[in-house]
Amino acid sequence: MTKGTYWLEHAWLGTHVEPGVTLEVADGRIGAVRTGTPAPPPGAEVLRGLTLPGLANAHSHAFHRALRGTVQVGSGTFWTWREVMYSVADRLTPETYHALARAVYAEMALAGITCVGEFHYVHHAPGGTPYADPNAMGEALIAAAAEAGIRITLLDTCYLSSGFGEAPNPHQLRFSDGSAEAWAARCAALEERDHARIGAAIHSVRAVPAAQLATVAGWAQERRAPLHVHLSEQTAENDACLAAHGRTPTRLLADHGVLGPRTTGVHNTHLTDEDIALLGGSGTGTCMCPTTERDLADGIGPAVALQRAGSPLSLGSDSHAVIDLLEEARAMELDERLRTRTRGHWTAAALLRAATADGHAALGWDEAGRIEPGALADLTTIALDTVRTAGPLPRLGAETAVFAAGAADVRHTVVGGRHVVRDGAHTLVPDVPQALARAVDALRA
Ligand SMILES: [Zn+2]
Repeated sequence: MTKGTYWLEHAWLGTHVEPGVTLEVADGRIGAVRTGTPAPPPGAEVLRGLTLPGLANAHSHAFHRALRGTVQVGSGTFWTWREVMYSVADRLTPETYHALARAVYAEMALAGITCVGEFHYVHHAPGGTPYADPNAMGEALIAAAAEAGIRITLLDTCYLSSGFGEAPNPHQLRFSDGSAEAWAARCAALEERDHARIGAAIHSVRAVPAAQLATVAGWAQERRAPLHVHLSEQTAENDACLAAHGRTPTRLLADHGVLGPRTTGVHNTHLTDEDIALLGGSGTGTCMCPTTERDLADGIGPAVALQRAGSPLSLGSDSHAVIDLLEEARAMELDERLRTRTRGHWTAAALLRAATADGHAALGWDEAGRIEPGALADLTTIALDTVRTAGPLPRLGAETAVFAAGAADVRHTVVGGRHVVRDGAHTLVPDVPQALARAVDALRA
């Protein structure tokens, strides 16, 4: 239903947990928020547990989901992992990618995610030949999100080179449009829809030559669209950038007009003090992906210092080693505890803000991520009566959600006033595990 009344047993209102909240929803938006309603009004849809604003997954590569488990055998580094990832990318078609992304986005809905930022770079057929519709792959992702019932910001990614001054390798040919101008012309044909917005991405300073960075930044600026970039995830990227340009990746982006409040650096792991000042001073966001960063042995980024410098934080499940935004939120705090041997770098409220309002803002959905009049009616309800969440007082619901709950505790997911997950079951994709198994199996060598 996109019009009606919801009664929330407990609601996270940004600063505190409020018991007994009634929402009026019309045209997919929250019309009124009434507190002090201890019982559901007649006819209201009841959401038992703690209802949060919908969660935003600000960094996703849907096809990496096919690697889950298989890349945990043996040793290696980010760079050896990347070879396995490329072997999956080689086998994607618009049909197999659509099936996989539909299942992955359904998994996200089950985890309470209502909006995904898809950092999309597998554009063309193997070898680099465009499909009849040059945006067939991006359209497959937009359709997949619609069928899974969630919002998407398609961050169409410019990817032109293998390294500084190096042509794409054979795997990367299908990622490349040949030039930033050709990338921009292809992206211009993508249209926004109710559930889909279009943003831009620079894969990394390795993948877009410095002279073409401004073309991508300008495209995003003209449209006031979000612009994302993988930034300093690996020290090897920093070393190569210093060798090629005599400056850090962050400085290079700053010098070519890439930084700013609609830009988000993904990872921002290995930074200098000057880098942190450049990112914070320009209002550039930081998307932390802690479960991927630990999975790939990347390191721990300076999220505390970045936020203090002025960089808003968002969270992403990136490689989908797991899909659980609550785990991403607590991992950011827990990583910092291990590094500093002190506790309490972020409150549960601050971590939820990264997972909701600030995550949505990083994806260009400023009107989502809050339970307030006028906001999109996107909601995630965490059960407070499971083995993981039973016990704490409801007023500690935010602490319970962030530090004890996980994706399995998500009971309801509502997107634009429509119940996409009800009592832990997806309402649009009948058997999500089977959809995942079939889609991954279709990509096996
Ligand atoms: Zn990524």
